[in-house]
Amino acid sequence: MSDIVRPVESDKDIPAHLRGTPVAELLEYHNFGRELVPVPAPRLLIGMCMDNRKHLHIPDNFAFILRAGGANLRPSEFKVSYAIAVGGVRAVAIIGHNNCGMVNLMARSHQFIDGLVKNAGWDKQQAEDHFFHFAPLFEIGNELDFTRSEAKRIRMRYPGVKVAPMLYKVEDNRLYLLVED
Ligand SMILES: [Zn+2]
Repeated sequence: MSDIVRPVESDKDIPAHLRGTPVAELLEYHNFGRELVPVPAPRLLIGMCMDNRKHLHIPDNFAFILRAGGANLRPSEFKVSYAIAVGGVRAVAIIGHNNCGMVNLMARSHQFIDGLVKNAGWDKQQAEDHFFHFAPLFEIGNELDFTRSEAKRIRMRYPGVKVAPMLYKVEDNRLYLLVED
């Protein structure tokens, strides 16, 4: 995989700027098998895709989790603000994943439109309008670039918060850190 994707298998793989943060804790729980002891208050906001192939190993109460196609938090900003302002979290992990369905949505336009007609009971025109109206908003282009740009966007919007972009690989169910420019 690309050289911007860094495996995290032990403490030495966690970069200095993330050590001691809730982002490092997430890696310890999920990748290192750290014992899942419930925590008293949430410490992290996790943005991740709605995709069914992913499951995080984290203790009860550890994180707010926003799941949205492609880990795209642009339509979820109020909820991000809530987790930070009211929930008190000071760290955000944006977790993209490989083989994401929000990449190249146009290639699935027929499947999407036909599926709405067949499964949801929509008429064809309504389904087409819906797809072509929303696909540009939800298209992420490329998982790695999108996840990194989303992390950068959240960091600029909420400068008091630590933000880290990550990749969840669906083949091995592990978290990887994404190197930023
Ligand atoms: Zn996805």
